[in-house]
Amino acid sequence: MPTTSLKVTRAPAGAVAEGAPALGKPLFRGTGDTDYLCGNCGSVIAASMGPTQRVIVDAATCSACGAENEFPPHLRA
Ligand SMILES: [Zn+2]
Repeated sequence: MPTTSLKVTRAPAGAVAEGAPALGKPLFRGTGDTDYLCGNCGSVIAASMGPTQRVIVDAATCSACGAENEFPPHLRA
């Protein structure tokens, strides 16, 4: 399964809490085979995205580390 790291546009505000799970839940899930990862911590933000699938937002905050990640233009609606 190919993976793509997203571009971090804003670093997390604070340190990740101790004992927090290393990986957050994906905010988006598609039916394809490409995972889009947080550029800061590597957690999956958009999972299994197909080549024609889009997300409805320009950017998303990683649920694991709090970094803001920007989606590439081809992934935006
Ligand atoms: Zn992250």
